[in-house]
Amino acid sequence: MGRIKKTEDISFDFIGKVIAQDMSLEQDRCGDEYMHISSLIQPDFCERRDAILYRHGGSKARKVRSDDRVVWAMGRAAENHIRKQYCSAMNNKHIVGLWKCKCGTSQYRGSFPDKECDVCNSKLDEYNEMTLSYKKWVVGNPDMIVVDTREDKLMVVEIKSMNKKEFDNLKDAKSLHLVQACCYRKLLVDKYGEGKVSEDVLVVYVRKDYQFRDTPYKEFRVDSQSRAMPTQVQQVFETADSMLNFRKSKSSLLPPRSNYCNNLEDTKAKNCLQCSLCFNL
Ligand code: SF4
Ligand SMILES: [Zn+2]
Repeated sequence: MGRIKKTEDISFDFIGKVIAQDMSLEQDRCGDEYMHISSLIQPDFCERRDAILYRHGGSKARKVRSDDRVVWAMGRAAENHIRKQYCSAMNNKHIVGLWKCKCGTSQYRGSFPDKECDVCNSKLDEYNEMTLSYKKWVVGNPDMIVVDTREDKLMVVEIKSMNKKEFDNLKDAKSLHLVQACCYRKLLVDKYGEGKVSEDVLVVYVRKDYQFRDTPYKEFRVDSQSRAMPTQVQQVFETADSMLNFRKSKSSLLPPRSNYCNNLEDTKAKNCLQCSLCFNL
């Protein structure tokens, strides 16, 4: 029988390699060619920072902790699980997305296609998020687009995962998640027309912790015209328009500094890699 080695005897440092990989820098999407809705809706999103990065370049890399990577992986797995189960339950019917075959060569955008890939002979039954866009610049990927068969209209489904404490206290869809879903709904309306899209959006939550009894899911179907959502969605797209105008104008006049950053000592400014340019331009 082999000798059981103590951890310090193990020279190849298994966990060390995982942590080093976890800590590889993450590229921020600010200042990119495309702007994602999920960045644009964040309460601390800074239009000036995007403008600086776009005009002057600079580091967009940010450090990520292993805890973040693990929690993100759990969240993605839980969301994928819900998507997969819903597709199976519906035999892929009444779901709109980007369908791919097993080898990824064949793709189809729209409702589940009744065809097979010429290369791998598998059905195109792998659901992927569809990319929607606004003025070919702002992009959004709804977690799912389903057909509400009662009204025969498309409906955006946004899936979020959370820990047990947050989940247990959840009585309604969170405002930020609703704004995100309603922004995706706007992109869907732009593509398919108002008459083809439900006024409602669906926000689904999944609990990441195990708990005996109780379902780990909650769903909230919300009217996109309620709770000041139209105004909030309008503000998001007004910001997008203003940023697009800046990019097209070649102007050197940057958008004003964010309210959170009155001086270099403010927390947000301290955490911003563009703060020295921001306060010197
Ligand atoms: S320091 Fe503040 S205002 Fe300036 S770019 Fe960074 S986040 Fe925006
Ligand atoms: Zn294939």
